[in-house]
Amino acid sequence: MARFIFITGGVVSSLGKGLLAASLGALLQARGYKVRIRKFDPYLNVDPGTMSPYQHGEVYVTDDGAETDLDLGHYERYTGVSARQSDNITSGRIYSDIIAKERRGDYLGATVQVVPHVTNQIKEFAQNDIDGLDFVICEIGGTIGDIESLPFVEALRQLKNDLGPGRTVFVHTTLVPYIAAAGELKTKPTQHSVRELTSYGIQPQVLLCRSEHPIPDNEREKIALFCNVPKGAVIQALDARSIYDVPLQYHREGLDEEVLKAFGIEPEGKPDLTRWLDIMDRVDHPEGEVTIGVVGKYVALPDAYKSLREALVHGGFANRVKVNIKWLDAEMFEGENENLASELEPLHGILVPGGFGERGSEGKIAAVRFARERGVPFLGICLGMQMACIEAARHEAGIKDATTSEFGEKGEPIVGLITEWMSEEGLQKRSADTDLGGTMRLGAYPARLSDNSKVASVYGTNEISERHRHRYEVNSHYIPELEKGGLIFSGMSPDGELPEIVERPDHPWFIGVQFHPELKSRPFDPHPLFTGFIGAALEHSRLM
Ligand code: GLN
Repeated sequence: MARFIFITGGVVSSLGKGLLAASLGALLQARGYKVRIRKFDPYLNVDPGTMSPYQHGEVYVTDDGAETDLDLGHYERYTGVSARQSDNITSGRIYSDIIAKERRGDYLGATVQVVPHVTNQIKEFAQNDIDGLDFVICEIGGTIGDIESLPFVEALRQLKNDLGPGRTVFVHTTLVPYIAAAGELKTKPTQHSVRELTSYGIQPQVLLCRSEHPIPDNEREKIALFCNVPKGAVIQALDARSIYDVPLQYHREGLDEEVLKAFGIEPEGKPDLTRWLDIMDRVDHPEGEVTIGVVGKYVALPDAYKSLREALVHGGFANRVKVNIKWLDAEMFEGENENLASELEPLHGILVPGGFGERGSEGKIAAVRFARERGVPFLGICLGMQMACIEAARHEAGIKDATTSEFGEKGEPIVGLITEWMSEEGLQKRSADTDLGGTMRLGAYPARLSDNSKVASVYGTNEISERHRHRYEVNSHYIPELEKGGLIFSGMSPDGELPEIVERPDHPWFIGVQFHPELKSRPFDPHPLFTGFIGAALEHSRLM
């Protein structure tokens, strides 16, 4: 029967609970256990799909088409276990389900309340879909004491009692701040935060204490004493030099052992950390470096491109090089373009990522053109692929006003809204005027790659499945015109209707994809497109 590990956070937000959950998952997995990691988000949006990347960072899409919190990306990257819709729940979804049931009369006249109706729903979610697992790790978003997270905390307290001894462990993350003027680390915020948690009926068994300075023995003793945990269960978490060092670092501090002990399991032997040691060897001993320019819209907030950043780093691991990323605001390449050459010339590769809306699009098109004309390795993702097609239409196929209908009714829409397409569940339909949430082609779809194409050799296969998140598609009627200019449509949906991949045979490395390969890249299993792209950038750097 699966055991549950609940991860809460105290004192401040941004303590890295997501990385903790992911790293603990990786460590337990390295001991041979089967794990799955889940996220409880206390906000009232049904999912993060409608939130601005500035508010919430990237929206992480699963194979089964869920739009989820970016922490699920960490979970997948660290464990290799593909996340599912059933791994992320929000207060918004819980309330919307409950209210729908109430309207249908499912509660048979009962008064619908936070306890037990909301809490029951949370408990059900935690226990749903967990067959065959040894551990389910659940991260609770927000900070203990937030009004919004209270129903979650209460539900987990109940679940602990429902399941009985030895089935649940609470790991609480806190901050041990350093007061420079006094030259001291302060444990009081940790004490208060644990006290708050115990006031809700939860005694954490393991504390992960984030600190900028090593926590001396006597301070650990103090934390243990006041917070009612064994001293060994006060785990020090110093800032890591790479996020991929975190599993190794937490293991050295005893995290996995202490969690097992808290379950009453005597840890046997050591976890097999070979894959993490190998990754860190690549971090610490690169044999070169490349600089990639990402020409996008949300460049001020790197969290908006979380998976993309990591996938580029993974491409670096595969090629044993360090990847420097230059985040370039596409708007700076619009108009007179005086910045264009000076910014783009030093780059070894240009990437135009996914995005929404017209702002910066002319700058992205200018960057695509630069990459095409100068033979700079190029990867276009989703909107980036659509921009590559518009660039080809305008400058090679002579469709001067080529555009996408996403930008309004002007020009010739070579990219447009399609209203019907096939999925594994059958025919999917959408219309231009439905709600913003849930009208996209979302999740994994298969694609067929042409024989002898560059992408087929990059992937080493002709059949792929990749994750999508977009409303618009390149209109396949334009394929013959665009192909005359040199852009080849080398990947299509199995029915041959939807363009999935474009490439240029006359260019060193130019690929655009309608999907998001960055979502499936893992440090120990880099995505072939990123391995290929960074490899081509390395090659390009040698010619410069
Ligand atoms: N905005 C584009 C669309 O909806 C691309 C989306 C994306 O890049 N994720 O089709």
